[in-house]
Amino acid sequence: MTQIVVPASEGRAVPVKVGQRLRITTPKGAQAADFFAYNAENVGEWLSPNHTWVTTFCVKPREGDTLISRFRRPMLKIVEDGAKGVHDMMIAACDQFRYEFFGHHGPHASCSENLCVAMRRLGHQVDVIPQPINFFTNTKVESDGRFVSPPNPVPPGAYVEMEALMDLICVVSSCPFDLPVEGWTINAGGGPTELIVDIE
Ligand SMILES: [Zn+2]
Repeated sequence: MTQIVVPASEGRAVPVKVGQRLRITTPKGAQAADFFAYNAENVGEWLSPNHTWVTTFCVKPREGDTLISRFRRPMLKIVEDGAKGVHDMMIAACDQFRYEFFGHHGPHASCSENLCVAMRRLGHQVDVIPQPINFFTNTKVESDGRFVSPPNPVPPGAYVEMEALMDLICVVSSCPFDLPVEGWTINAGGGPTELIVDIE
């Protein structure tokens, strides 16, 4: 078994072989985990929530769901959801411009930058930021179409476990979102915290 600690506001890329299980845990709770996955043989094929939800007919990933690539091939299966369904597949990965949009001045860590750095460490240049699955992220579509992010209820120790259906490179980013934006609560109030990734 391999265990990787993803420090608060950082990202890590890790190879996962077909048949292996990958578990992501938020030890302190309420920490958004942006998740990306690539075909290890061809990083032009990546996990696509947009393609996935039209096969599962749900905008949330659920236990038993198969997550597919942009070429509509099975990449991962959710085998256990220890976070009671509090996940998101709609929010684009945060980036420098997102923080500037909210009035932040100067550089800010982001999931997009974390993805690029983590993949470069394995020798891959990322030119397109895929739509992530944002585990432990509380979003809701209201009946009138409004999209909201209420306070994050995910308790300490919550996790999600997936099985790889092909050889993958998986990337997990501890979302650095820490801006006090009214009605848009991504992480816990105390700021970003670390995530644990177990592979076995
Ligand atoms: Zn983020």
